[in-house]
Amino acid sequence: MRATTVKQHIPAELRYSMRDFNIEFPDDSACLEYVKEQRWPDGMAPCAKCRKTTKHYRVGNRTAYACQFCGTHIYPLAGTIFEKSSTPLKTWFYAMYLMGSTRCGISAKQVQRETGVTYKTAWRMFKQIRSLLSEGDLQLEGPTVEVDETYVGGKRKYSRGRPMAGDKKLVPVVGIVQRDGKAIAKHVKNVKSKTLNGLIRKHVTPGSIVYTDEFNAYNTLSKGKRYVHRRIKHSSGIYVKGDIHTNSVEGLWSLIKRGISGVYHHVDPEYLQSYLNEFCFRYNRRHQGNPAV
Ligand SMILES: [Zn+2]
Repeated sequence: MRATTVKQHIPAELRYSMRDFNIEFPDDSACLEYVKEQRWPDGMAPCAKCRKTTKHYRVGNRTAYACQFCGTHIYPLAGTIFEKSSTPLKTWFYAMYLMGSTRCGISAKQVQRETGVTYKTAWRMFKQIRSLLSEGDLQLEGPTVEVDETYVGGKRKYSRGRPMAGDKKLVPVVGIVQRDGKAIAKHVKNVKSKTLNGLIRKHVTPGSIVYTDEFNAYNTLSKGKRYVHRRIKHSSGIYVKGDIHTNSVEGLWSLIKRGISGVYHHVDPEYLQSYLNEFCFRYNRRHQGNPAV
């Protein structure tokens, strides 16, 4: 893996600062209004009782809104991660803002410090926010796609060549990156040909040019002429030969590895996919402002 940096090209006028955040979301009511607006734009919600699609008005301090004709309530938070939480909405929004606005991610510890919730609450919020960031069926449509595999995980502990107690295994991750486009990173059980090909077939449009290294699990990729397969020879020291390179996926790896070692220290395999989702979510919006909400 080579050190490559992924720059975030967010023009100044699109950058969303802490000040912008506080102006847009001064309190819980503003956040609630925002969720309502996402579900029912312009405040026009269908009423289950009188069947009119009409304006609804906030009911006192509650999280309910009432139909202007018959008074039947709707609940914008129903079915969302905020529904059963006793944490104020603004704290949730602030955590999402923090997660989205820093390049390498932010830790639950930082959210605990900045919002005053307990570590346990901050951690739980993170887990739930990440669950929203999954883009499981994303299909990469670019003509040029890079695929690579890497290993991430905690510190390994060996004794006489064998893993010992407390050993945190490295687990394989496959990255598929569309050049100048989106990325997918998947925690996989193994890096066998069948696994890699299956992932590629699921996420890459037929006819694409697929760049990989010389790893032999990719040998069958061009079978059936589904893809044009080009390989880069890392072993002979050739990294960039014209457009035969895997720089985009290397960029994604460096982002993920820097994030995991710098902010999260290590990641439990159980939660790895949700971290990967978070990184890809951020990577896929690297050219946009306000990535949080
Ligand atoms: Zn009604």
